Amino acid sequence: MNIIFLGPPGAGKGTQAQKICDALNIPQISTGDILRRAMKEGTETGLKAKSFIDAGQLVPDDVIIDIVKERLAMADCGNGYILDGFPRTVPQAEALDTFATIDTVIELDVADQVLVERLSGRRVCLKCGATYHLSMLNGETKCSKCGEELIQRDDDKAETVLNRLEVYHAQTAPLIGYYEKKGLLKKVDGAQGLDNTFAAIMKELGAKA
Ligand code: AMP
Repeated sequence: MNIIFLGPPGAGKGTQAQKICDALNIPQISTGDILRRAMKEGTETGLKAKSFIDAGQLVPDDVIIDIVKERLAMADCGNGYILDGFPRTVPQAEALDTFATIDTVIELDVADQVLVERLSGRRVCLKCGATYHLSMLNGETKCSKCGEELIQRDDDKAETVLNRLEVYHAQTAPLIGYYEKKGLLKKVDGAQGLDNTFAAIMKELGAKA
């Protein structure tokens, strides 16, 4: 099954995508994780993306479309995948239609004030992509999955968060209508707690939790 996770930053796309991918045994393709790794490694793509990411803006469509096209051609995507953070603009969605067939789009719906609270307390592992919230960490500073030191993403700092939400509403939210028209959209309340959200997504996918 080829699935898109759509929703604002902080809606839980990454966390839920990881859980669903584990349950369905398919890869999670997070364009944010790919770009952060490229920045950490100092690749050409990473250098190109850095100024956009730091400002809370989207990286140019052509950069991200090429990355996703290449990634989806890899053998592990043959049995399906979850796209987490892509597409984020209508031109990206139109490009995706030329090289992939999407079965379902899960929209995670969360109110803006909840998102700001979630994003400002978020801590991430750059090595394995796991995400945490300060309120769950009890002072722990390392990733419980791989032992790497957790960090606060620069773009999760207060001044950038509001920018990212604005960008979401202006550039990404139109995709809700785009996929609704195609009959692919399934809306899930993303504010009902981790386990209930997971169960609701599995139900929408017709999979057993
Ligand atoms: P994320 O981890 O999904 O919140 O992505 C972090 C940042 O990476 C975003 O704020 C964008 O600057 C960039 N990014 C990730 N995915 C995309 C995309 N599909 N199109 C453009 N920029 C993206």
